[in-house]
Amino acid sequence: MRVLLVEDEPDLGRALERTLKREKYVVDWVMDGTQAWQFLENDWTQYTVAIFDWLLPGTSGLELCRRLRAAQNPLPVLMLTAKDRMEDRVMGLDAGADDYLIKPFGMAELLARLRALQRRSPHMQPPQLQVGSLILDYSTSTVSISIPGKYPESILLTAKEFQLLEYFMQHPNQILSRDQIISRIWQAEADFNSNVVAAQMRLLRRKLAEYGYNNLIETVYGMGYRLNPHEA
Ligand code: CA
Repeated sequence: MRVLLVEDEPDLGRALERTLKREKYVVDWVMDGTQAWQFLENDWTQYTVAIFDWLLPGTSGLELCRRLRAAQNPLPVLMLTAKDRMEDRVMGLDAGADDYLIKPFGMAELLARLRALQRRSPHMQPPQLQVGSLILDYSTSTVSISIPGKYPESILLTAKEFQLLEYFMQHPNQILSRDQIISRIWQAEADFNSNVVAAQMRLLRRKLAEYGYNNLIETVYGMGYRLNPHEA
């Protein structure tokens, strides 16, 4: 699940990013409304939900909402705002925000609001994603194996392993390049090191191999990686 987070206060942005990542969201954090609009125009469908601060440099969160809805875009939006006057809240909702949180707020409340938005949204993630005998469970962030009588286990995954496997399971049989994987999983992470992809792939494969999935994700030399659905 990917979140577009638009917040120009560095401390709050960092805290939100950390909290969301711990909950296994992929987070694209931008501090500027104009840049946020570029991300949305580029491909809004990659996002499950967007979090907009109201007051932003460039384009305001309110304006981002208006533009999304003017374009008939259903992406769920949670607005963050220090404004707590009734008429401001009405303005935010009229602009197309699905919900709002008044600063300061607790992270537990933010996460609960996000879950509620995802449940209500027609655009929300399915609770499970299945390829062959592998079932990715969003509620527990695990992969379970559904071969009757054989493997009742769930494979526990780290946040990054979960995101990687999710990406492959969403695109079975398709070659995903290193650059595509980076931009999906690590985009907007400043401390990214390019060796990380290969290292993470090794960890994920090793974990899958423990359960007999030795060739589930193949290396396609010079091109990238591919999940072979016949091995699932
Ligand atoms: Ca702000």
